[in-house]
Amino acid sequence: MNVSDGRFAPSPTGQLHLGNLRTALLAWLFARSAGARFLIRVEDLDRSRVRPGVQEAQLSDLKALGLDWDAPILRQSERMDMYEETIARLDAGGLLYPCYCTRAEIRAAASAPHGIPTSDRYPGTCRELTAAQRAVREASGRPPALRVRAEGARVAFEDRLLGRFEEEVDDFVVRRNDGTPAYQLAVVVDDAAQGIGEVVRGADLADSTPRQILLSLLLGLPAPRYVHVPLVLGPDGRRLAKRHGDVTLSDRAAMGEGPDEVRAWMACSLGLASVGDTPAPNDLIVRFDPERLPREPTVWPPGTAV
Ligand SMILES: [Zn+2]
Repeated sequence: MNVSDGRFAPSPTGQLHLGNLRTALLAWLFARSAGARFLIRVEDLDRSRVRPGVQEAQLSDLKALGLDWDAPILRQSERMDMYEETIARLDAGGLLYPCYCTRAEIRAAASAPHGIPTSDRYPGTCRELTAAQRAVREASGRPPALRVRAEGARVAFEDRLLGRFEEEVDDFVVRRNDGTPAYQLAVVVDDAAQGIGEVVRGADLADSTPRQILLSLLLGLPAPRYVHVPLVLGPDGRRLAKRHGDVTLSDRAAMGEGPDEVRAWMACSLGLASVGDTPAPNDLIVRFDPERLPREPTVWPPGTAV
């Protein structure tokens, strides 16, 4: 493993948009400019959301932009046994407990004292259930999720772009109540399996990082370095999404804008090119300097103010 070995991990649930693609370009630049491996992982755990043909379309978009990757491509749907084994190992260590709460109950409990809902943080309702209380909940027929006993651990990490983060980790889910391994668990297991040294991903995922670091520690796995890169926003100031218009490579092609022009816009937005310049992927590797990347999000389309 090289400390700069990186990855891009799309979910095949819809076409990649310009924001996803710019993050992919950055992940590729971080790895390739350091002479490291760049790997692809298909995050297709949630089978109900996977759409046929999307995976192939995503890979062909990455290729069209000029990105290359090292084999093999890892697919989460082929690794269920690995996740189940890991969950069993945590459970055998007394690190998990069943949680019978519905989402509405968690929201109600989390917001009870001060009336402020604290997003998806878990208030610990099922942590200390007695055997009798557990039996009552079991009898209701609702299968439990499995949560980690985080014991109020505080986790700190140094992000290469955003600086120091520190957060108390809640008792998060490692297996959902439908039996699917949770995203947090799969990511940690897979980053270790792929030998990822540096995780480059969108800034919206920074909140997940303390949970993932804690899980690496509990599993005795090496924790990678983290780089959370600025997002692309729509004109309404929210994270770019399909509803913002013509935001995929095929949308852009239909408007007469090819992948080279899209890459040129990305390079411009990252301070790697000036307007009118159409750098090749290798030019970007030569010009790339993490220290000089913008820390602020970019608004699309270019020229729009939020
Ligand atoms: Zn619960």
